Amino acid sequence: MDYRSTMPWHAKPAEEICKELKTSTEGLSDAEAALRLKAHGINELRKKENRTILQMLWEQLKDPMIIILIGAAILSFVLHEALEGGVILFIVSVNAVISIIQEKKAEASLDALKKMTTGRAVALRQGEESNIPASELVPGDIVFLEDGSMVPADIRLLDSSSLKIQEASLTGEAIPSEKDADKILDESCSLGDRSNMAYSSTLVTYGRGVGIVVATGMNTEVGQIAHMIDSQNEFDTPLKKKLTSVGKTLTIVGLVVCALIFAIGFFYKQPLIPLLMTAISLAISIIPEGLPATATIVLALGVQRMAKRGAIIRKLPAVETLGGATVICSDKTGTLTLNKMTVTQIAIASDVGSGKARPTQSALKMNGSYYELIRAGALCNNAEFDPDNPGSILGDPTEGALIVLSQKFGEDHGDLEEDCPRLFEQPFDSHRKRMSTINEVGGKPVVFTKGAIDELIPVCTKILTAEGERPITDEDIESVRRISDGMASDALRVLAFAKKSIDTVPEDDDADVEFGLTFIGLVGMIDPPREEVKAAIKTCWDAGIRTVMITGDHRITAVAIAKELDIWHKGDTVYTGDELDEMSDNDYNNAVRTTSVYARVTPEQKLKIVEALKRTGEIVSMTGDGVNDAPALKAADIGIAMGLSGTDVAKEASDMIITDDNFTTIVDAVKEGRRVYRNIQKVIQFLLAGNISEILTIFIATLFNFPAPLLAVHILWINLATDTLPALALGVDPPEADVMKHKPKKSGTLFEKALVIRVITQGCFIAAATLIAFFIGLRDDLPSGQAMAFCTIAFSQLFYSYSQRSNTKSIFSKGLFENKALFVSVLVSAALMLVLVVIPPVREVFALSSLDADEWLMILGLSLIPTALIEIQKAIWHFVSKYSHRRQTGGQHAR
Ligand code: ATP
Repeated sequence: MDYRSTMPWHAKPAEEICKELKTSTEGLSDAEAALRLKAHGINELRKKENRTILQMLWEQLKDPMIIILIGAAILSFVLHEALEGGVILFIVSVNAVISIIQEKKAEASLDALKKMTTGRAVALRQGEESNIPASELVPGDIVFLEDGSMVPADIRLLDSSSLKIQEASLTGEAIPSEKDADKILDESCSLGDRSNMAYSSTLVTYGRGVGIVVATGMNTEVGQIAHMIDSQNEFDTPLKKKLTSVGKTLTIVGLVVCALIFAIGFFYKQPLIPLLMTAISLAISIIPEGLPATATIVLALGVQRMAKRGAIIRKLPAVETLGGATVICSDKTGTLTLNKMTVTQIAIASDVGSGKARPTQSALKMNGSYYELIRAGALCNNAEFDPDNPGSILGDPTEGALIVLSQKFGEDHGDLEEDCPRLFEQPFDSHRKRMSTINEVGGKPVVFTKGAIDELIPVCTKILTAEGERPITDEDIESVRRISDGMASDALRVLAFAKKSIDTVPEDDDADVEFGLTFIGLVGMIDPPREEVKAAIKTCWDAGIRTVMITGDHRITAVAIAKELDIWHKGDTVYTGDELDEMSDNDYNNAVRTTSVYARVTPEQKLKIVEALKRTGEIVSMTGDGVNDAPALKAADIGIAMGLSGTDVAKEASDMIITDDNFTTIVDAVKEGRRVYRNIQKVIQFLLAGNISEILTIFIATLFNFPAPLLAVHILWINLATDTLPALALGVDPPEADVMKHKPKKSGTLFEKALVIRVITQGCFIAAATLIAFFIGLRDDLPSGQAMAFCTIAFSQLFYSYSQRSNTKSIFSKGLFENKALFVSVLVSAALMLVLVVIPPVREVFALSSLDADEWLMILGLSLIPTALIEIQKAIWHFVSKYSHRRQTGGQHAR
């Protein structure tokens, strides 16, 4: 049978579909699922295939520079300079191979990344709910949908409870549509109105549902629309675009200079053909065509390193942005804290009188009095003990702590749920900050509600005392608040409980039952801060990055934890969601500058905080996990979703996912981002200074009517042998020790003024050394001069690649082997040079004369000069900046 989304599944009763798809109430067996997987293929949208090697080669051949080079080779053959032509062709081919290897490597790392972010689904297999990769779903599978998950395939709903799905990816409609499994629709019903269906790639924003998979992979509706998902564009990061545009500018500059060199040589009546060849090869060498590819590799390798540490980059530009982050807005629960809740204090009406909560241990001795509170906590609860993992909890840790509490009081959670079956649920949401269930207690329905104290007290009219229920008084409320504040200032999360008996269970799923309740009591639970977070926050502080806590929890609890973690400093302001609601955009702008803690915040307010921070010029990273966090995650410069507790919706909206939900992982990722950014700068500086030295050498010689110090093949060889390897090695340079000790770099400062100055001055140093070597050799003959110039420029570049590792620290402050890749690549490049100069037949190909010991000594001495000058330059800059910093701060160190 052809299971396609185009079939009228929405027009058939659910039972008929189950029969048709041969699925029982147990779901599919593993064997049947495997058979179907073979028959229907994996549940994935077909990606545009990565380019084949031939296609890549073809793209290389279409590159104008390669065409010019091949033209130059042909010209050489025509002029019977077969050797030179052969060398050019050889170099072009090796260059093409290297580029293809680079591109393949970059593609492979991106593919590996994509695999890491593929989704999972909960399906019923052999009668059990199993969490499987969404790609393994087959038609006939029964799957479960819940608030926050992405629909993994096209599904005919079998059951739904307040289910709402946002189908913008399919229909363009941003408002979530309500679903109803029980409807049978007309065959002609349009896609957007099929309320009994859920379609692949859409997002569940509310409620729950169960359904049967009717189409997978390319047979789904989205598969029909998106015949192919183009994965190539992901390479086009702003950085790559910037490098490409800089490349274009340099191409124009290079071509102008080459034309100038040609014109001057022509004016001096230099032999035309060698002049043309030199001009062409110079043009080729000045164009940093390898730069975007090298940058992509540096980025991709950085992304792999981040993934190993638990930070999965979903959008490549995030790596660059991360390095520039100035504020990290973090959730509290689970990110700054362990999300391991334990109830440590309890209070009921009798304690309210005394104004003090009771430690759990002491309450245990008074078992009976706390029964109502314990029962409400266990019944108004969706967590359960993990049957496969005794002692651990499945579900929300806040609720888990309540089950553990009931167990401590000798109440078995399972027995309680059996004795008092659930009839209705009004789920928790971060706006109401409450949750309610209706359970049958002794044959009668009873509402149990739990939630944040300031949200629960207003819906309570009575209080439960040892003598029974009575109206709640202002003194009671005052006293309850005092107890709650006491718990909160001990950094405890406070939950309040209430109940009421009712006559009938509401029929409408969305009915509100939270009014006229009877207050039962409070619990306070500890959620210890993660041990390593305090140090990570200090690292951020040193790095000029502000940490801001945004939490749904109570103000006092939030501040207590913020103080413990050093997020809150004297003078910082604290705002609650209610206070934020009163603010204008302008007030927001002022508030965000000084606020380090936001409490009782709703996701909408999170969005406004991000927007205000961005308006004040900050680069904002923001964490989130819930469905409603998606807009804030999208708006942030770097949206960070939680891997463990995050919903698919939040992950989908994010730029980065942290697999362990840990704040420290974000800081590690920022550090890696800064390292990547710096390494790309090192590569740029190294390659461009080298190119400038080549062009200056030739330009100056031509200007004064000297023969070319370097031949076309020399220039090409330098670009291939002595530039590529050290450039790649600089791309993986370990981070500098002070990488998290300076302020974040402003975005768009990759080509900062200092870098441009360094490129030009360092290019001049190398050109000067090369010209001196040339003139010394020229006293014998031209091939000697060229050999001296060729070796000096190549070895200067190799030596000064080591200087590039820091712009401020001396070359001796870093070990020779610290960057092993650089050590090896310098050795290999030097060996390649020696092969060229020392082995006679090869030497002849490159038209070089042999060099004696004196000349070698001279070359070595001259090649070291640029590095020495750069080191002196560093020392001077270091001195000047220290002096000016002292003058600015008046000798004081501001924190
Ligand atoms: P964050 O993760 O952003 O730091 P949070 O997890 O503390 O915030 P929410 O989950 O929105 O924030 O919870 C806000 C408040 O709602 C809590 O302080 C608590 O009083 C109450 N609350 C939390 N979980 C539940 C729940 N399952 N049922 C009822 N009330 C809850």
